[in-house]
Amino acid sequence: MTAKVETALRGPQAYDLARRIIEAMESANVWPSALNFELWTHYLAEPDGALGTEIARLLAAGERFTEATADMLAAEYLPRGRLTEEIRDAGRVLDRELSSVAAAISQAHQTQSAYGKTLEGAATSMEGADGAPALQTIVTSLTTATRRVQRENVTLEKKLETSTKEVAKLREHLEQVRRDAMTDALTNLANRKAFDDHLEAACRQSEEMGTALTLAVLDIDNFKAFNDTWGHQTGDQVLRYVASVLGRVAKTPRIAARYGGEEFAMIFPMESMSQVEKALEGIRKEIGTRALRRRSTNDELGTVTLSAGFAHRHVGESAVNLLERADAALYVSKREGRDRVTSAERLQTAA
Ligand code: GH3
Ligand code: MG
Ligand code: MG
Repeated sequence: MTAKVETALRGPQAYDLARRIIEAMESANVWPSALNFELWTHYLAEPDGALGTEIARLLAAGERFTEATADMLAAEYLPRGRLTEEIRDAGRVLDRELSSVAAAISQAHQTQSAYGKTLEGAATSMEGADGAPALQTIVTSLTTATRRVQRENVTLEKKLETSTKEVAKLREHLEQVRRDAMTDALTNLANRKAFDDHLEAACRQSEEMGTALTLAVLDIDNFKAFNDTWGHQTGDQVLRYVASVLGRVAKTPRIAARYGGEEFAMIFPMESMSQVEKALEGIRKEIGTRALRRRSTNDELGTVTLSAGFAHRHVGESAVNLLERADAALYVSKREGRDRVTSAERLQTAA
């Protein structure tokens, strides 16, 4: 959760805010589910934030706020809060395992030093011992002490083994959390956060090595109308389908991501503009000619098309600038009738 929302929820006006949230949800015809409450908290506490803006946009567009909408918004805008919790939980488990190992080690230490004292004591007693029975007593006490140390060692080993397993599980879980945080839940492509990181890295590499880098942005055409006709869930299936095509084309080192809503982005390192254009045209044609069917009812949905814009990185160009140029090219594709691919470079030459 952002600091602003945290403060609003723990501040003097918290209850007042909670009441306002409920009222706002009621007047927007939104069920007061826990998730909706969380989303509306962001909306009211931080109306100009990314999530607030998106909710305002959806409401203004008169979109029905379904459970799917809430899930989509949560996946896109709330993961950081969830992530923090996961990491906190993992930290607690790690803490517990480490304390348990530390306790076992300290116990073993004490036993070892007690054992040392027993041995010393036995040595002294032996000097003064006369006869077999006295020696027998000393040996018995040594045997007992030795067994005790052995038992302690076995316990320590078991504890270490358990802890090692726990920590390995934890590492796997954290790895999964890390992957989830970088992945778009609906399409399994890289999410926007992951993409921004990739793009920064790709720009750095292109600058350092003097290699080519092309960025493409792709946006499904008239998708609002598609959703209005067929419903959000079917729209989601289409998003998954489009993502699967992009994912297949984006073999390493290419990267495809869901940039937001019905918008995707791709990075093409070390490829010529004509190679990239060919790949994008391939995607556009494949998607635009595929007759879609609704899985549940087999209804024919027709086709969806997409528009794309791409820009080839200039020496010294920042990720933000590159993105702006690719976006401008996408905009031209839209303006000129959609279902097409536009190169930012060609625009500049034409201008
Ligand atoms: P354009 O050709 O100009 O891109 O038109 P458009 O309707 O695609 O663009 P607009 O930005 O007006 O609307 C985008 C729509 O995409 C709004 C929303 O219904 C839909 N959308 C965004 N994210 C999702 C999602 O996760 N699932 C579904 N089903 N629809 C989504
Ligand atoms: Mg669109
Ligand atoms: Mg769009």
